[in-house]
Amino acid sequence: MAEIIPLTPGGPSASGEPFKEGACKLHPQTMCPAFGALRVLARIDGAQPAMVTDTGCLYGLTFVTHFYAARKSIVAPALGTAELSSGKVQEAASAAIAEAAREQNVSVIPVISLCVAETAGLAEELLPTEVDGKPVVLVRVPAYAIHSHPEAKDVALSAVMRRFVERAPEPEPGTLVLIGEVFPADPLMIDGVLRKMGGRVLTTLPGRHVDELRLAGRGAAVAALHPFYRDTVGVLREQGVGVVSGAPIGVDGSAAWLRAVGAALDLDEEVVERVAAEEEATARAFLATRPLAGATILVSGYEGNEMLYARLLVEGGAHVPYVSTSIGQSMLTAADEAWLRAHGTEAIVYRKAIEDDKAAMAHWSFDLVIGTTTLAAHAKEHGIPSVYYTNILSVRPLFLSGGMIASLSFVRDLLNRRPLYERMVAFFDDGQ
Ligand code: SF4
Repeated sequence: MAEIIPLTPGGPSASGEPFKEGACKLHPQTMCPAFGALRVLARIDGAQPAMVTDTGCLYGLTFVTHFYAARKSIVAPALGTAELSSGKVQEAASAAIAEAAREQNVSVIPVISLCVAETAGLAEELLPTEVDGKPVVLVRVPAYAIHSHPEAKDVALSAVMRRFVERAPEPEPGTLVLIGEVFPADPLMIDGVLRKMGGRVLTTLPGRHVDELRLAGRGAAVAALHPFYRDTVGVLREQGVGVVSGAPIGVDGSAAWLRAVGAALDLDEEVVERVAAEEEATARAFLATRPLAGATILVSGYEGNEMLYARLLVEGGAHVPYVSTSIGQSMLTAADEAWLRAHGTEAIVYRKAIEDDKAAMAHWSFDLVIGTTTLAAHAKEHGIPSVYYTNILSVRPLFLSGGMIASLSFVRDLLNRRPLYERMVAFFDDGQ
């Protein structure tokens, strides 16, 4: 039984000293980041991934892909020490691509190049760009260069977009393309509000079909809902597509986002203003109940959208002194970071490690921990309500007033579970 550190319910740091994050950022503590790329690519109908790596990586990545129900085999060359040391990586990759092309109903062959192939020097110029009319797209995601699986999703999406998206000479007026692996109800809610403003959602990427990628070229503007689609946003900007960054999160974020979308889509200003005000009024009416007042909450995850959740919690009345994420800091994270810092968040840790999160738990006392499985387990040992960010929070609506009400109501229920957790600790304590 772990030692129970006595923690008073929710409160500031005991020492009064500023929080110091751990120094070592060399070892990202996530599963192989390439999984993010594989997940995005395997979900595209007709995409037949060819993975160039050694058998160890292949085994692990095939396992997680099937675990997440890809229902698709991965074609890969047999790359062992003998093949690698004899410089056969290039031939092996070409053979795997040829094999992928022989599969049924293939519309694209993403070639996923991982640590081993990258280290061995896989040359893009020696790979085919097409086999039997099937496009071949190289996606380089070695973990030493791509540190988190959200960022690997970005690399994958930008690679296929670069290949398939062509800016339409006359984009469809009033249409918005959403970018982000979001809860399925979110694009519907966003579409409902945009229609009231005179616009609509054209498609949501990463999509399920190459045609959805192509559709992105016909949108009047694109909204990157998550802050890690840096390359993807770059590809679209190069093509002259207007990009709205940020997300319709909480009261402040939603109203500002709707206005920005209205401007990008050239919608009627008065109508946009009315719809934004309606959304704001609904959200404010809910927030007036201060659903999370007095709670101190820790947010930690590796999804890349942790700061968005933290913003909601703060608007709900919670104190969120610490937020950590696996993604890196960038221009796209700047607005959320500035907002959080202006609203009481003292530490925002990028490329986090479990040691950072545990140090935060020792620094402040929390009423609720929303974190990785390891951190949630650590919190439970201390009798603190805790949930796994990815499976519990990331699977609920988040955006606009509807998402806010759903997410904050759920978090309020979690906070009420503290007596249960304390009973659990007492039970195991008595049993010693
Ligand atoms: S060696 Fe690289 S590609 Fe292979 S599993 Fe490890 S991190 Fe992933």
